[in-house]
Amino acid sequence: MKERAESMDIAVVGAGYVGLTTGVALAYLGHRVTCIDVDTAKIETLRQGRCPIYETGLQELLELVRHRLEFTDSYSPIRQARIVFIAVGTPGLPDGSPDLSQLEKAAWAIGMHLGEDFTVVVNKSTVPIGSGNWVEALIREAYRSRNGRSADGQFAVASKPEFLREGSALRDTLYPDRVVVGAEHPEALKTLYTLYRPILEQTFPAPAFLPRPEGLGAIPFVATDLASAELIKYAANAFLALKISFINEIAALAEKVGADITQVARGIGLDGRIGTRFLQAGIGWGGSCFGKDTAALLATAREYGLTMPIVEAARQVNYRQRERVVERLLEELKILKGKTIGLLGLAFKPHTDDLRDAPSLDIAKRLMARGAWVRAHDPVALDRARRERPELQLQYCERAEDVFDGADAVMLVTEWPQYRNLPWEELAGKMRVPLIFDGRNFLDPERLARAGFRHLRIGVGSPTLTTA
Ligand code: NAD
Repeated sequence: MKERAESMDIAVVGAGYVGLTTGVALAYLGHRVTCIDVDTAKIETLRQGRCPIYETGLQELLELVRHRLEFTDSYSPIRQARIVFIAVGTPGLPDGSPDLSQLEKAAWAIGMHLGEDFTVVVNKSTVPIGSGNWVEALIREAYRSRNGRSADGQFAVASKPEFLREGSALRDTLYPDRVVVGAEHPEALKTLYTLYRPILEQTFPAPAFLPRPEGLGAIPFVATDLASAELIKYAANAFLALKISFINEIAALAEKVGADITQVARGIGLDGRIGTRFLQAGIGWGGSCFGKDTAALLATAREYGLTMPIVEAARQVNYRQRERVVERLLEELKILKGKTIGLLGLAFKPHTDDLRDAPSLDIAKRLMARGAWVRAHDPVALDRARRERPELQLQYCERAEDVFDGADAVMLVTEWPQYRNLPWEELAGKMRVPLIFDGRNFLDPERLARAGFRHLRIGVGSPTLTTA
């Protein structure tokens, strides 16, 4: 399947975390990329050369490849594109199934603008199994309605599930663990292999600010059918979600029996069959994917008359964790009404400003429902929180230090690296009670003890007692 690297015209429909990262990365590999989005404010920001999301290295790479990138709210560039990526949102509906309305509109628009040359339409949105066929039918129907003839042989739909993690989206795109492509049309498979070859073989020069990980070899290419590619995405997210929930379930027992979950996780993770990653006990997962994708997997199973008790339990354990930390704080403080609680971190994880399904917001709501005053800091997500969640009556602090002023407790929710080195001695003196709840087992216990903090951790039975 050897092909010469060539520059292609590519359109990406949806310029969010996935679409924009994909577009910028492909432009970096030398392709001419047009990012299409219905959000005109986002398009305007991008046209001005500004990245609308916080993602490590994305602004820098955007500037570097600006000459090969276009941003528009018009679908007409699809006509020239050899490959069209779909990267629109598929948020969850109340019954757990994904809302496919963005996908439906995008597929229809692609059909209405399909050009005369063979086009590969690649779905990167996370979609229920069978959506590839549905997208194909929509494109076909739209094409017929516009052109009065069939689009036979003019396009093929493929699936390229996205595994990037927010916070390291570019790194994961340029240096992935694997590339999975679901394609039943040989020309589609060949085109995508050609497109991804520089990544598979790691032949592109690494950007100075995103060096290639040492020792990275050839990237495995998994070529499969559409349904398997779609299921791979859901199964991968469900497995990662349940790994975290598993360690959190063990952490609850560790707290009771006086064990230390960090030692337990290391002890089991060093078994090569288990692995140490995704075994950090804490407040649990959040973000735009695990919650909605596990719910969507359950909804798909239901459609086929199946239950998935393991996935169901992973979700229950995860969402219960948000209540457990509030209960533990209540046990500690006895009364939350009128108390001031500081939160360190709002984003669902560090290095992103994404607040979708963020545990911080859930925890803040639960604390406020019990009468506490909540103030919060985040290095990059404050503006987004003010903009997207105006109903939350949170007090936002521009400096992490301000969260501690007169607080009865501070909870670390997001493990931003800068929180590790706060001036702890000084901060202990600013609080009414020097109590810190480390929801990610991230801070240095000895340092906090020296500073006079009472330090609660997840899955660690007896908190470090201090002389304060
Ligand atoms: P996002 O909400 O950040 O971006 C989606 C974009 O699509 C938005 O800018 C929206 O305006 C645009 N859009 C919606 N309808 C459109 C249309 N008809 N035409 C053009 N643009 C349209 O979402 P995201 O986080 O990038 O996720 C996209 C998909 O990728 C989802 O299915 C998600 O599950 C999946 N995914 C996301 C991640 C992640 O970490 N964010 C990782 C893997 C997979």
